Amino acid sequence: MKGWEKNIRKVVPYVPGEQPKQRGIIKLNTNENPYPPAPGVAAALKGMDADMLRRYPDPTSEVLVKELAAYYHLEPEQVFVGVGSDDVLAMCFLTFFNSQKPILFPDITYSFYDVWAEMLRIPYERCALDEEFRIVKEDYYKANGGVIFPNPNAPTGVCQDLAAVEDIVAHNRDVVVIVDEAYIDFGGKSALELIDRYDNLLVVQTFSKSRSLAGMRVGYAMGNKILIKYLNDVKYSFNSYTMNAPTLAAAVEAVKAEEYFKETKGKIVATRERVKVELGKLGFRFQDSQANFLFITHPQFSAREIFEALKIKKIYVRYFNKPRIDNYLRVTIGTDEEMDELISFLKKFM
Ligand code: PMP
Repeated sequence: MKGWEKNIRKVVPYVPGEQPKQRGIIKLNTNENPYPPAPGVAAALKGMDADMLRRYPDPTSEVLVKELAAYYHLEPEQVFVGVGSDDVLAMCFLTFFNSQKPILFPDITYSFYDVWAEMLRIPYERCALDEEFRIVKEDYYKANGGVIFPNPNAPTGVCQDLAAVEDIVAHNRDVVVIVDEAYIDFGGKSALELIDRYDNLLVVQTFSKSRSLAGMRVGYAMGNKILIKYLNDVKYSFNSYTMNAPTLAAAVEAVKAEEYFKETKGKIVATRERVKVELGKLGFRFQDSQANFLFITHPQFSAREIFEALKIKKIYVRYFNKPRIDNYLRVTIGTDEEMDELISFLKKFM
């Protein structure tokens, strides 16, 4: 090790899903939306006057904040937007998790959390899921420095009912509880309705999944005005986290396109329910996912072997080589045609 390396902040990096660029593949590995963004998004980008790029963007992202506030019937001061929910979550960690006590999150969950806790040197403790991959709410009642969990959870897809979410928030009034709702539009019940009653609750969502804008990087947090103010204080000192002007214009169009949003997420949910039946017939086991993916295992076949065989056929799914879930695959719900190809391959494989 070189002398200067000892002062480097070392982290075990987050490993994102593969992003193969070749054409003709079926990409079911990173929970993207199989349908294009709302037509108004492309129109907004096409109609852009490049001269606007001479100017700095609005550091408050006011146009998008207002659009989201109106959509969710909130005050603009209750909404914070950022460059993808990963960045929003990173700013939440930085802003809210400053205790000597460990923050709590599930074991198994989104692997960004431990990477960010390590990065920021935030102590953390993982709370095991039960046999059916459910969060055990009582585990979150002990003293802690904050709580974060996705609902539905990733990569399991398992959703908690709102009463359980509320119990966790209510038992943690002295710390901030973040509910990461990246997948909430596909079936779960959002905790947003609790934010008026619980000033320690922050709900984070994204445009990456249900609004088909993963490539654009738009995420947002909703909570009471004091929480949002603290987030903005941190953001202003890091100007690179500011949303750029084309993104703001396009994201506003995505929020306006309510009919398109309902139609595309409805299609994904219908496909998911059909695929559950088909995979069940093939002997796959899984918990009842409310997300745009299924987390599946087969008692007779190795997940890794299926993963590798699928890849040869240019069908990409996600395999996590981690304890307890090393015989599982996470399969994003694509179009009906894509899912039919997956199922017919699996039928031949078995
Ligand atoms: N939370 C969860 C649970 C996720 O699975 C993801 C997607 N990887 C994110 C947040 C981040 O999504 P984005 O940064 O694209 O908004």
